[in-house]
Amino acid sequence: MDRPSSPLPRRRFLHLTGAALGLAATSGCATAGRTRSTGAGLLSAGAATDRTWTPERFDPWIELDRAAWTQNVREAARLASGRPILAVVKNNAYGLGDRAVGPLLAGMPEVGGIASVRVEEALAMREEGVTKPIVVMAEGSEDEIEEMARHDILPSVWLDDAPARLRSVSRRLGRPVPVQLFIDTGMNREGMPYTRARRWIEELVQSEYVDVNGTYTMFIHDLDFNREQLARFEELLAWARGKNLPLGTLHASPSFELFNLPEAHYDMVRPGNALFGNHLSGGEGAGEMADLRPVFRMNARVVRVERLEPGDGAGFRHTFTADRATWVALLPVGRTDGYPSEANGTCEVLINGRLYPVAGGVNSAHTILDIGPEKTVEVGDVATLIGPDHPSVLPHTVAERTGRGFLGIIQFMNPRLPRRVV
Ligand SMILES: *Cc1c(COP(=O)(O)O)cnc(C)c1O
Repeated sequence: MDRPSSPLPRRRFLHLTGAALGLAATSGCATAGRTRSTGAGLLSAGAATDRTWTPERFDPWIELDRAAWTQNVREAARLASGRPILAVVKNNAYGLGDRAVGPLLAGMPEVGGIASVRVEEALAMREEGVTKPIVVMAEGSEDEIEEMARHDILPSVWLDDAPARLRSVSRRLGRPVPVQLFIDTGMNREGMPYTRARRWIEELVQSEYVDVNGTYTMFIHDLDFNREQLARFEELLAWARGKNLPLGTLHASPSFELFNLPEAHYDMVRPGNALFGNHLSGGEGAGEMADLRPVFRMNARVVRVERLEPGDGAGFRHTFTADRATWVALLPVGRTDGYPSEANGTCEVLINGRLYPVAGGVNSAHTILDIGPEKTVEVGDVATLIGPDHPSVLPHTVAERTGRGFLGIIQFMNPRLPRRVV
């Protein structure tokens, strides 16, 4: 059965924007930061901004605090002595939502480009109006490399057969394929091992079907070994200079090395965590070196307030039992939204400037709070489960109290929750 077709098929839309954006990106007149408002139906659930958020909404939403992101980006740029930032927005922006975070970061003058690890993420950010360079820090199939090239997205290569695959993609495109070379200097995760990179680099740089736009490596966050990695990378770079092989923009430093290894800042720095307010990612002392702010709130509205008499219970198997007359409030937010079940009995929630303990369990989609003997909370009040507004609800506090770690909190924010930039 035929379904009515959308006015502009998705692929065609991507091709059109890719072509248009390619021009903008290469001429340097980036106009990122706008969110595409046309093309109804082209954005998936969990999309950029206020699309599914209404002021009356009870269900949870994520707020992205523009001022805090700006602060963190400026701090990163300061640590990098003004070098541009290649902002890492991978894994759905570490859980916070790439369709919202990508354009937000790309709109800042200190951000020179965006890096992701999945092709889909890069395409989603292009769809959302990001016009600055995007690097995908992963190898792709020929089809994926072609698709990236058509949307002015830079794939990375590190496999031995990259020259052959790029030749084939270049034939399809009728032009050289812009790529970034990922060199493994001893992490043994991704990258072409530095020990056998020379002939491979030579072939790629000298070929007519490749345009080497940049070259990079990844550090292991151990300062002694980092210096060894740096020496290996430097030796390769010196060899390439000696051979007159241009390697494009050089970058190497994620957050830890942004803080701790200034000699590796090269042309751009490549932090993710620091921009997301995770000062722990910079190691000990990072908190004194930079003033990084929490960048998001997890909010919901109180949807029920009821009084319990002494001895009444609340939740499955009466997780909570009232030892005095008290009020309990229900929040329509739970584990599947990304609020950790370990928050029960350990965490508090901020409502109208006051803290209330999580007491009746964190279920799949519900959380019960103990309000106390006074009815200080009303249906419709906004509750902040995680956010910058009180030390007890900071992402790091929730992470510590639940034993999850910072990334263990933000990575599990449900992609479907609406994101609002405030
Ligand atoms: C994740 C990642 C980064 C960013 O690391 P952070 O610790 O979040 O700053 C940089 N480069 C590569 C290759 C990565 O995978």
